[in-house]
Amino acid sequence: MSWKEEVQKVADEFIYTNEDVNKGVKEFLREMDEGLSHSGSTLSQIPTYVTSVPNGTEKGLYLAVDLGGTNFRVCSIQLRGNTTFSLTQSKVAIPRELMVAKTSKELFSFLAKQIEVFLKTHHNDHFQAVVRRRRTMSISEGFREEEIFQLGFTFSFPVQQHGINRGTLIRWTKGFDIADAVGKDVCVLLQDEIDELHLPVRVAALVNDTVGTLMARSYTSPGKTGTLLGAIFGTGTNGAYVEKLKNITKLPAASGANYDDSTGEMIVNTEWGSFDNGLRVLPNTSYDEALDKESVNPGIQMFEKRVSGMFLGEILRRAMLALVKDPKVMLFKDEDSSSNDIHSTTNIAPDSPLFTQWGLDTSFLSIVAGDTSYGLKVIKQTLDKELGISAASTEDAEAVKVLAAAIGKRAARLSAVPIAGIVHKSGRLGKTSASASHAASKVKEHVQNLEVGEAAKTAAEGVQASAAPVVDLPPTGGVGNDEDDVVDIGVDGSLVEYYPGFEDYLREALREIPEIGAKGEKKIRIGIAKDGSGVGAALIALVAGPLT
Ligand code: ADP
Repeated sequence: MSWKEEVQKVADEFIYTNEDVNKGVKEFLREMDEGLSHSGSTLSQIPTYVTSVPNGTEKGLYLAVDLGGTNFRVCSIQLRGNTTFSLTQSKVAIPRELMVAKTSKELFSFLAKQIEVFLKTHHNDHFQAVVRRRRTMSISEGFREEEIFQLGFTFSFPVQQHGINRGTLIRWTKGFDIADAVGKDVCVLLQDEIDELHLPVRVAALVNDTVGTLMARSYTSPGKTGTLLGAIFGTGTNGAYVEKLKNITKLPAASGANYDDSTGEMIVNTEWGSFDNGLRVLPNTSYDEALDKESVNPGIQMFEKRVSGMFLGEILRRAMLALVKDPKVMLFKDEDSSSNDIHSTTNIAPDSPLFTQWGLDTSFLSIVAGDTSYGLKVIKQTLDKELGISAASTEDAEAVKVLAAAIGKRAARLSAVPIAGIVHKSGRLGKTSASASHAASKVKEHVQNLEVGEAAKTAAEGVQASAAPVVDLPPTGGVGNDEDDVVDIGVDGSLVEYYPGFEDYLREALREIPEIGAKGEKKIRIGIAKDGSGVGAALIALVAGPLT
């Protein structure tokens, strides 16, 4: 076998065939149904209590906050009712000591304080007018309904959701650890502190970022039926989609929550990162196996570990290292050396991140896949800069490109599996779903316009305004854009946004699935939907309505 063939042999381990894709879709459909019927299944299929999607005509001023990790973001969103919006936002780092505070009150009173500062900075006219009016009343009298800002709360930690603005914290992650918050309703914790400051704000919705993505896309890119699916391919991967209420058979048992069931639909958060944790159908190379074994959560998030940004760099690092150590290949060999030590026979610096777990970021795959320069100069430079690998040969650079392309292509083809499963199950490819149109138009009835003067437009410092942030990715082969027929999907995340050809590979796999086929694939419109935790959260607060 030639040197090139040895490299290709490793790359070929990442081939995800037509047959594999189809097996994957079958299993995904099975797990979807299982998750809809009972809890504790591989796919969580979490009901979100959001029962309609926007159609672009929604209007009003809403607040959204996002607690997801290192920062707390507060924003107000003016929905203009014509698929566009403006957004005003501020961001503050969460002090380290509050992440591990003794009581949840310390953290949540800090968050409420930030909301007060935001209102005073960006919506002071409205804020002062409400406060002045209330001074003339007895303290027991509340705010008028029209004075209250509805707020969507994006909270990116595991919660058990019981209603559109009800959810108890299961556990903290990402460095947070405040024991008394676990098991409590995070919306209540925030509302209590807001009330203590007498702010005219109601926590109207607890928001998952995939649901926010779906809602943001449906508002900014409305079609006859509204968006079907919001999907994230970033650090992790997940999707939320519109399901028929009658299919969510576990719902009555799991909740005593009130929700508007008149649309006959509800958005379900699949948590598809854990698809096929049992490895019935997912590909499993020795590199996947080692990555999983040495991860903090072996056997969990198995789909995510083959698809998302957090892991693809690490898979490539392991494959490259294997080729460095393979005596038949000796990737990055120093041609002048005759030593047997890996560090002196290669051009790799001894402290190279290539030797460290998580040492290679997934953005490296995008750079490599996108290099079409003569002699693969960009790859060589990046190897030098990112990995301390000097003087890589053109053959070395080609080998890296072959490996990276194989791993990226497999991730994109795997991503077609949940998308195909959801599109097929929705039945929207065959016809324009009557109930879906109903769900979209239903939102019109919820439209409310909170008049607060020109506050949102008088943007001060720290402000970012945006128009409709919709970018339709260029479709492969052209979408048959008969609007009636379009099945719309909103996506977000650096991987789908920046990895060259991600959508092309995904679409290629979709065409290989008989239930979708070339005709069905053309009807699927995929577009970037940014700002799920801003405009998406606002839209969920809107559909939650003022009285939940
Ligand atoms: P998040 O999902 O955390 O909200 P992103 O969508 O930006 O944020 O995703 C971050 C992930 O995407 C990281 O795992 C990072 O390695 C990966 N990433 C960042 N830039 C790129 C890129 N240009 N191409 C592919 N992956 C990228």
